[in-house]
Amino acid sequence: MSRDNEFSQMTKIMALKRQKNKCGSCGTRIHGIYKIDATHHKFGEHAEAHHIRHVQQGGTNAVFNCIIICKACHYSVHEGGNYRSKDILATQADFPHFNG
Ligand SMILES: [Zn+2]
Ligand SMILES: [Zn+2]
Repeated sequence: MSRDNEFSQMTKIMALKRQKNKCGSCGTRIHGIYKIDATHHKFGEHAEAHHIRHVQQGGTNAVFNCIIICKACHYSVHEGGNYRSKDILATQADFPHFNG
């Protein structure tokens, strides 16, 4: 198994499909995982892949641990006070649009 901290492109595509092309956090339509897709985003943002359970907490690069979210949503997950400490693990339930 790879020690790489990155999801494969295939995993990101599968996650976005599962989310029915919505941001896993705010539900804004996300057209794709590539930078070019930002041109279609409501706020011109490209999407980023986030580890629901962080790698440092034993999270994997599997699709069930992958959530595609807007750049701003990604920022707020990490910096906006929602970042989970070591004691409180994030779950799929933290992302209302995990399944679209
Ligand atoms: Zn992240
Ligand atoms: Zn979002």
